Amino acid sequence: MNYFSDLKEHLIKDGQHSYRYDQLYRALTIENVQSFDKISNFPKELRGGLKKCFPNFFPAVTDKVTGSDCVKFLIELKDGLKVESVLIHDDKRGSNTVCCSSQVGCKLNCSFCATAEMGFIRDLDQWEIASQVFIAADHLRGSNEKITNAVIMGMGEPFLNYDNLIKALDLLNDEDGFSLGARRIAVSTAGITPMIKRFSKASQFNLAISLHSPFQKEREQLMPIAKKYPLWQLMKAAEQYVLDTSRKVMLEYLLLDGINTSPRHLDRLKELTKNKLFTINLVKYHPTASMYTSPGDKEISLIMDYLRNSGGDVTLRRSKGVDIDAACGQLAIKETPSK
Ligand code: SF4
Repeated sequence: MNYFSDLKEHLIKDGQHSYRYDQLYRALTIENVQSFDKISNFPKELRGGLKKCFPNFFPAVTDKVTGSDCVKFLIELKDGLKVESVLIHDDKRGSNTVCCSSQVGCKLNCSFCATAEMGFIRDLDQWEIASQVFIAADHLRGSNEKITNAVIMGMGEPFLNYDNLIKALDLLNDEDGFSLGARRIAVSTAGITPMIKRFSKASQFNLAISLHSPFQKEREQLMPIAKKYPLWQLMKAAEQYVLDTSRKVMLEYLLLDGINTSPRHLDRLKELTKNKLFTINLVKYHPTASMYTSPGDKEISLIMDYLRNSGGDVTLRRSKGVDIDAACGQLAIKETPSK
């Protein structure tokens, strides 16, 4: 479904002047209204007509859980399925980042992931992906804050829903609309290698890769997709991406106590990233029902120091939202029957 051409067609059929579409586009993508009723410069009949023809147009927030530095939204889609997004505030950086989902569920079955337990249900469309950012922007209405970044790191594998993903990011990036800079948008893949090349050619958006282990066999245990797209192939594609785009790739490394944090792992990780094309983003694991746990804060500091000793570019994703089940899928899974 192309929501915007359908809306345009509706307005034309309704005999509206073309400026009405511009007003509507602005209301949806700049003002981020969450209901046709909120388009104050539309006459009542026009708003009523839109409501009638496009019921359930706006994904609805059915639950909002607020933690110390983040808000998690549970969002109901037009068919009743639910996904979640998280708005993360970082005082130090002055940023408000929305972590968006790209699919309902996921078929990649990573062993540490709450979403994987749902199985795959369906792809999100352009509007459903972009709306997660618009909902977060609406949440900030009235404050002095605005959305500064979007990351597609929530439920689902974005590169398995590539066309809708790119359409959604283009919508967020549109200068005549929400106008979120391409460099402020990042997409995280579990390693769908062939799509990395396509992504580098098609977009200015940033790339992140979920690495999680520097060893092929162990990575396969954590992320079964690694059997199809082996580590050597993934790293080659990532290096090529950096050469093609002159943008560093973020390697996400979930810290799993006793699994991937030994000196052997860290040395291999250093080896893989020694050409300095990558930033290693260590991610503290949010406990889920899985068997994994996170190392303690002291050990995480030692890991960071160890990786930085050789001059590596290493960051730590601060542990936000532990109090609100902020790991992807933890809220939605409670409300979605597994397949
Ligand atoms: S970690 Fe991401 S890719 Fe892996 S199963 Fe979960 S949602 Fe899918």
